Amino acid sequence: MSMIHGLVFDWDGVWTDGTKTAEGHSVFSEHDTMGINLLRFAHYLHTDSWLHVAIVTGERNPTAEHVVRREHFDQFLFFARDKTKAIPLLETRWGVEAAQWGFLFDDVLDFGLARSVGRRAMVSWPATAEVQRLAQDQGIVDDLVETPSPIRRWCERYLHEQGWLERAVAERQSWSERYQSYWALRNEREPEVLDLSR
Ligand SMILES: [Mg+2]
Repeated sequence: MSMIHGLVFDWDGVWTDGTKTAEGHSVFSEHDTMGINLLRFAHYLHTDSWLHVAIVTGERNPTAEHVVRREHFDQFLFFARDKTKAIPLLETRWGVEAAQWGFLFDDVLDFGLARSVGRRAMVSWPATAEVQRLAQDQGIVDDLVETPSPIRRWCERYLHEQGWLERAVAERQSWSERYQSYWALRNEREPEVLDLSR
């Protein structure tokens, strides 16, 4: 599988098991945030370029927004009822075509975006087995990812595939100079928060 240069996440059912409160709060896992951090660091280490990251979601979930800000992702696109609207926007911001993005998704509302993205990972919840089959028949699934923590599982799979895992972990552990420069760059980034319904 080829290298990705941007990474898009759906929120509900990808970061979470799909459950939430009436106020829209949900939970997230540090397994997942660590997986993404290692992946962004490894990408920086091996390509000297930045791996852009966005969450594109149909609702405005406060927990998702918190994760985006804390982890210094690049974009939080909310009220994205039509997620394909993220394509021209992020292609312009990132200078990277959708064909070079990865996309982690879990459900029907994500199919349109998945059609344009280069590497599509669908979360294999037992409840959505038939919809997964449909997505596979439509040729929009490159990876099926088990639960729980599908994000961490996919990040580890990708890091292993690229042969990047060992060095990324070693440099992260030793807080190497390269890790420190990555960390400073990461923490400088302020996410863009946009309402995609407009
Ligand atoms: Mg979802």
